[in-house]
Amino acid sequence: MNAHLDHRNPLVFDTHELGRRPGALQRLTRSVGAPKDLGLDGVIGVPEGAPVNLRLRLESVMEGVLVTGTARATAEGECVRCLEPLELDVAADFQEMFSYPAADDRGRSKAEPADDDEDDEDTLYLEDGLFDLESVLRDAVVLALPMQPVCREDCPGLCPQCGIRLDENPDHNHDAVDIRWAALQGLAGTNQDGEKDNIGDAAESGVDEKQEK
Ligand SMILES: [Zn+2]
Ligand SMILES: [Zn+2]
Repeated sequence: MNAHLDHRNPLVFDTHELGRRPGALQRLTRSVGAPKDLGLDGVIGVPEGAPVNLRLRLESVMEGVLVTGTARATAEGECVRCLEPLELDVAADFQEMFSYPAADDRGRSKAEPADDDEDDEDTLYLEDGLFDLESVLRDAVVLALPMQPVCREDCPGLCPQCGIRLDENPDHNHDAVDIRWAALQGLAGTNQDGEKDNIGDAAESGVDEKQEK
């Protein structure tokens, strides 16, 4: 375990009021500034210091405190298709057990098999009745964020030829593309079967488009 938790850290919560009686419940809300690196590095994330609204439910259980909650925040990133900045409201749910340190674990009987060697590393502990939500919050927000954020589902992105934004230029095309489609169509025509399918379909749609214009 690392250095002592600081109760002034907004992501550190105090369970003293909750108490240790199993079944005791406490609900609380807190608005905090986002910690550093809350998101997917270089893709999308909640800017440091931006508001994160936390809604928590603490439940006292035998071995510790079960924390269930939701974090709401606005993430900022860039559309992977058109590269325009975007904002996304995220609601990240989490549930985590914070265990009493073994030394004052009154709940567990000695007879219980010590089979938790392997998950010891993943176990989070209460420290003097305090717990730090930061790693839980970070994991939950990362999971709630899209790996490939788009400004809208049908964002047409950029022209693969010249990089112009297709959204602003719906009629945009290149003559060179038409020539290539024509060449593909000729190629497809000579293939009677077999690999014809893929190329053929693509070529047909390309040709249809050309003829409509
Ligand atoms: Zn976009
Ligand atoms: Zn173009």
